[in-house]
Amino acid sequence: MGEMEDLCVTDCTRCPALVDSRSRIVNGAGPEDADLLFVGEGPGAKEDEQGEPFVGRSGTVLDDGLRTVGLARSDIRITNCVRCRPPENRDPKKDELANCRGYLEREIDRLDPEVIVTLGKVPSEHLLERSVAVTKEAGDLEEIRIDGTPRRLLICVHPAATLYDRSQEETFENALERAADLAGVADSEGGQSRLDGF
Ligand code: URA
Repeated sequence: MGEMEDLCVTDCTRCPALVDSRSRIVNGAGPEDADLLFVGEGPGAKEDEQGEPFVGRSGTVLDDGLRTVGLARSDIRITNCVRCRPPENRDPKKDELANCRGYLEREIDRLDPEVIVTLGKVPSEHLLERSVAVTKEAGDLEEIRIDGTPRRLLICVHPAATLYDRSQEETFENALERAADLAGVADSEGGQSRLDGF
């Protein structure tokens, strides 16, 4: 079995409600040696349809934000707290998050990213194991331990938040910029484009 195949969940039936609502399991996407691992909540309709995380409207916002800080989707890895679409896009339940946790931990362990970026409240609270005021805490860097290994986690708002509230655009982009800087992955072009406005 190849390393990436090993990261792909192919036949999980742990969550009866999600088995009913999904049309497929949506695994993480992107290079297995990426310095940045983005973690969302769970697949929506488009992701469920196409089998890839963040391919709907939120994905477009994410791609735009990445480009602003000099990154492309192909530079990062992206995954979700749960890999199956919840019915009516409801939040994943505690037991569903717990059922899927091992897959996420295995992905983090295998990737060994410089920084984990949590997109929104659900992944932030899931990995920090506390309640999080995402808008207020976006851009904050924390240390978590997974299986005893220290990991750097950067809190970020969910890309969709910028669609409902324009004022969150800057919060979103500032967090992405910090993530790129921390991981040392902002290329010189990105740096240049950031200076263009001065
Ligand atoms: N929102 C998420 O949290 N994850 C996706 O994959 C798509 C939208």
